[in-house]
Amino acid sequence: MSGQGVVVTGAGGFIGGHLVADLRTRGYGHVRAVDIKPFPQWHQLHTGVENLQLDLRESCACYDAVQCTDHVYNLAADMGGMGFIESNKALCMLSVLINTHMLKASRDVGVQRYFYSSSACVYAADKQTDPDVTALRECDAYPAMPEDGYGWEKLFSERLCRHFREDFALTTRVARYHNVYGPYGTYKGGREKAPSAICRKVIEAKLSGRREITIWGDGNQTRSFMYIDDCLHGTQAILHSDIEEPVNLGSRELVTINQLVDIVEDIAGVRLRRVYDLTAPQGVRGRNSDNAMIEERLGWEPSVSLRAGLERTYRWIYEQERVPTAAAV
Ligand code: NAD
Repeated sequence: MSGQGVVVTGAGGFIGGHLVADLRTRGYGHVRAVDIKPFPQWHQLHTGVENLQLDLRESCACYDAVQCTDHVYNLAADMGGMGFIESNKALCMLSVLINTHMLKASRDVGVQRYFYSSSACVYAADKQTDPDVTALRECDAYPAMPEDGYGWEKLFSERLCRHFREDFALTTRVARYHNVYGPYGTYKGGREKAPSAICRKVIEAKLSGRREITIWGDGNQTRSFMYIDDCLHGTQAILHSDIEEPVNLGSRELVTINQLVDIVEDIAGVRLRRVYDLTAPQGVRGRNSDNAMIEERLGWEPSVSLRAGLERTYRWIYEQERVPTAAAV
């Protein structure tokens, strides 16, 4: 294993930064970390790996990224929470350039295994209209009517992976991530997702003494959330597996957004007055992950409860928020 070369794209982001750290811990000798952002903006910048700043929408950059590489984890994408993807559909779809050029370069240099991070946003909207959900099975992505913009790009890129496998014998593996959260994730600025956004809002209320929180929607929409450690283990298991079709990688612990706020309030030791913003982006009404395929094929199931994962995430965001506030006082 230590002799194998591994590339992680999107390594300056949340999941990519954790994956690079985990691969180092597992003893991979040559890990290349690639992201478009300047190094000071990376969520985590690790030593002992080859860090490159490249725009992977460019074909030549993808060849630089994958040279002398055995395994590729392609996590790079222009993405964010509902607030971002609902108002940046063209930007989200332009990520198709990244996966297209990465696949071509990987095929041409003889990469052995290629992982693509797809999303639960590929699932047909008409199967997610009720908060009392039936968990989504992989086959529910068709007939296709995914999230506009971001979801269509993911679905197209999934199929590109499939056809590179079938037509060019490049071994591709695809995971459909369901809401990943944890420390070092984006928690402010407009691209954050519900768990980190709610932790940040509760922390702001606690530090400012303004005991109020604004919730997007009526709070009754349902979701499941996967802690980053479970995502990392599942991602690597899928890359090394023989599962050729896209597979769900998510938690089955379904909560309403109101219940998510309850848990974070408990962790923070506060109770806040809730203001519901019914005009804010809310995404689908209900969504959960059916894990039958990954349990049967890989024996994978999440190991970190939502409460335990949120405690770690809350603590990390609290440290980030507390320091500037303390300095300003
Ligand atoms: P992230 O935004 O933190 O990381 C993505 C990284 O890709 C960013 O650092 C960004 O700078 C980089 N990037 C964007 N365009 C690039 C380009 N042209 N060239 C090189 N790098 C580029 O997101 P994340 O949460 O770490 O997600 C990683 C992957 O998992 C993404 O593909 C995302 O769509 C997918 N995903 C994530 C979630 C989740 O809940 N976090 C859910 C479903 C799917």
